[in-house]
Amino acid sequence: MRCPFCGNVDTQVKDSRPAEDHVAIRRRRFCPACGGRFTTYERVQLRDLVVIKSNGRREDFDRPKLERSVRISMQKRPVEPERVDQMISGIVRRLESMGETDIGSKQIGEIVMEALARIDTVAYVRFASVYKNFQAADDFDKFVSELRPQAPSDD
Ligand SMILES: [Zn+2]
Repeated sequence: MRCPFCGNVDTQVKDSRPAEDHVAIRRRRFCPACGGRFTTYERVQLRDLVVIKSNGRREDFDRPKLERSVRISMQKRPVEPERVDQMISGIVRRLESMGETDIGSKQIGEIVMEALARIDTVAYVRFASVYKNFQAADDFDKFVSELRPQAPSDD
């Protein structure tokens, strides 16, 4: 595994342990060339997914990108990170089991909303209210990156 800091390909695994209730292996890695430390996850990948965006463009499914969107809607919610990881793994497993390699971004957004609705209502509303206002889920990342944290209001 190439070091993300200096590009050295000869990095060492310092520690491996199961994560996310044994659906992943988490490895702590160390780069002897620059002293950098980083973490990798090993997961079963049943098939390579391709996302079809609303403008028709295709791109490889990007799990970290999905994680970022979900974590943003989960900010300051009383849900353990481990539970969120499991939810994301569940979403990915569902996508992989759909029998199609190509999946519309809209379809992915709907599956995410369904999963969020079960885990945390506030996170669901946050995700859904932003998602539904955009034609493409791709705009979601851009939108939330421009948001500033706001005081919660109950009305
Ligand atoms: Zn390095």
